[in-house]
Amino acid sequence: MSKLKYVEPAPIKDKSNPFESMMSRFNIAAEKLGLDDETYEVLKSPAKQVHVSLPITMDNGKKKVFEGYRVIHSNILGPSKGGVRFDPHVNIDEVKALAAWMTWKCAVVDIPYGGAKGGIKCNPRELSDGEKERLTRAYTLSLIDVFGKDKDIPAPDMGTSAKEMGWMMDEYSKTEGKTEAAMVTGKPLVLGGSLGRVEATGRGVMTTALKALEKISLTPTKASCVVQGFGNVGSHAALLLAERGVKVKAISDLSGAYWNDEGIDIQKAMKYTESNGRSLEGFSDGEKITNAELLSAKVDVLIPAAMEDAITIENAGSIQAQLIVEGANGPTSAEADTIIKDKGILVVPDILANAGGVTVSYFEWVQNRLGYKWELDRVQRRSERILGEAFDKVFNTMLAYGVSMRIAAYIVAIDKVAQTMKYRGGF
Ligand code: NAD
Repeated sequence: MSKLKYVEPAPIKDKSNPFESMMSRFNIAAEKLGLDDETYEVLKSPAKQVHVSLPITMDNGKKKVFEGYRVIHSNILGPSKGGVRFDPHVNIDEVKALAAWMTWKCAVVDIPYGGAKGGIKCNPRELSDGEKERLTRAYTLSLIDVFGKDKDIPAPDMGTSAKEMGWMMDEYSKTEGKTEAAMVTGKPLVLGGSLGRVEATGRGVMTTALKALEKISLTPTKASCVVQGFGNVGSHAALLLAERGVKVKAISDLSGAYWNDEGIDIQKAMKYTESNGRSLEGFSDGEKITNAELLSAKVDVLIPAAMEDAITIENAGSIQAQLIVEGANGPTSAEADTIIKDKGILVVPDILANAGGVTVSYFEWVQNRLGYKWELDRVQRRSERILGEAFDKVFNTMLAYGVSMRIAAYIVAIDKVAQTMKYRGGF
């Protein structure tokens, strides 16, 4: 088979296109790995893309048609796995990019899943619970031949939660005529959800951040950090790092950023958001600063845990942290990568740093299949081991190839999928 012909990564044609942004990293890793053309073509093309129209009776009695997507990027390593997003901006390119990220994420942590993602173009904040339930059930029914515990396993993502996963499991089970808990993860505990799933992603961010601190010879009790985004991932990462002695000097959400030089009391902040509609608005344990000031703060660790493209060509130059641990998916634009690398900042990339969530989702699936429940301690020990081993593999690959940790993570992932593909063979 012939080697890839190019040396330079393909230029990003459309910077706002997340699939192109993912591909620009994929291209660099594929080139470093010496991936052959045929494998490259297979791995860059999603295996299946489904687009469905979902007519729903709204509370006012009128019918409204919603668009839904499910993209299976790859099922080479096993059944595909990935969340379902309810958001007004859902589009096929975003779903394709997120599906590919899931393939690489599962491969990096070496769990037997391919990658997928789904979404419905809707504004969940404008839908009643009844409308959301009908929409979720219609989506599940439309994709009844796609989903399945051995085929494609959805999970929550932006705008969806354990509640929607419960409806999916119920609709699927009714249609199949049997209870099928393992067809979806992120379920409520009573429906077979796993202990430790809620804080799993934040815990993984903590685990990988501590490993990275060790690599740059910084003791946690002497380190300081800021966290952008105080939702599920950011708040748990902040709490767990604070428990290990890291001084979390600022946290932020859509209401702004809050700075306390002595360290924010994270437990207090979590209690505050719980009783304040999940918002930090009005939080008084810190001086109000802007989100831009948070990103450029003089601290050791920056944790972007809010959304895509938080770190861009415009603000990357002002970052003073020595370490970035990406809690969010795609928080650093492809162009900002170069600036950050030139500044000598170590970045633990998203597909490694936030893989704790899918790892515990995998444990949930295993438990459902076994008809058994694990204790919290077992869930935490096993996910810590998986993430620790993945971190070491990526770090060593970074040293061996002389690349960033992000490209090293892609190299590990692409190599794993390409090797598996080789042994599975094909037409
Ligand atoms: P969430 O909705 O619980 O929290 C998001 C937080 O970010 C909120 O506090 C919100 O106010 C804040 N935010 C949004 N825009 C912001 C902005 N411009 N500036 C500052 N703060 C802003 O979401 P989450 O589940 O914590 O997910 C956060 C990120 O992590 C997403 O990129 C998601 O895809 C990724 N992720 C989540 C999981 C998971 O298990 N929840 C797993 C892997 C990756």
